[in-house]
Amino acid sequence: MGKSSKDKRDIYYRLAKENGYRARSAFKLLQINEHFNIFKDVRNVVDLCAAPGSWSQVLSQQLIKEGDQDPPKIIAVDLQAMAPLPGVIQYQGDITKTSTAEKIISHFQGGLADLVVCDGAPDVTGLHDMDEYIQAQLLLAALNITTHILRTGGTFVAKIFRGKDITLLYAQLKLFFKTVTCSKPRSSRNSSVEAFVVCQNYSPPEGYVPSMVNPMMDLSYNETNPLVGPNRMIVPFIACGDLEGFDSDMTYPLPVLPDGSEYQSLEPHQAPIAPPYQTFLDLKRSNFFNKGV
Ligand code: SAM
Repeated sequence: MGKSSKDKRDIYYRLAKENGYRARSAFKLLQINEHFNIFKDVRNVVDLCAAPGSWSQVLSQQLIKEGDQDPPKIIAVDLQAMAPLPGVIQYQGDITKTSTAEKIISHFQGGLADLVVCDGAPDVTGLHDMDEYIQAQLLLAALNITTHILRTGGTFVAKIFRGKDITLLYAQLKLFFKTVTCSKPRSSRNSSVEAFVVCQNYSPPEGYVPSMVNPMMDLSYNETNPLVGPNRMIVPFIACGDLEGFDSDMTYPLPVLPDGSEYQSLEPHQAPIAPPYQTFLDLKRSNFFNKGV
């Protein structure tokens, strides 16, 4: 496909070039802000998974006013190197690492971020289930690092794939934010499962201690990684009942009664009142299946 044919087919691709943006995704953040006003009163902002940098461009243009002696801080992080942008502090790193969180915080002089945005995407494999799973993992990694760097009351915006497990992600986000909205900017293609969660009013569960431990992956919990209290994300598995008792997978012979007589099988105490297989039972009783109908 030639450049001009893409210009015709994709208006945001064309507009991005006309407006000097490095990627068409700039319009997604602009449109999210149009609706949710997420840039209001922002002093510290973090752009996770920022390369090539169109979201950082938007942040820089919208937040930094000419001649401002003390402009807002914008930190951009990505695995990939990114060409410099005015007013944007760049850090090449992995958002799943504690060291990245520490690096970011070191720029805020004791403060925390008012806004964290994440347009992160892993390399797409084309296998939908796999892509959705990896995207969900990246979103959780972004949420994880966000719990280290976002102030109470702050906002988190992140890319999400609207797959079948999305309600689980919503439930996880709702533990940390008072309001969670799924938003589809006009510039995000209708044909794409991509959307953005806008999570407002950060309020972690009482006693929550930010940790980079991923309970699905990291198998060692110790004094430094204690998954207890509100930090515990794994549903505990408890075996109960006498371990010496009957094993439900075993077969046991019928007992011989004390008087030596054969064991008589008992009727169930309460048969189902209206089982879904009732019609079948009625037909069977009427010998329907033997009539050769
Ligand atoms: N928002 C960007 C913009 O407007 O230019 C586009 C982001 S691009 C769709 C997704 C980015 O996520 C890639 O640059 C990729 O390197 C980054 N990424 C994926 N996994 C990451 C990770 N674990 N840590 C940091 N960046 C990551």
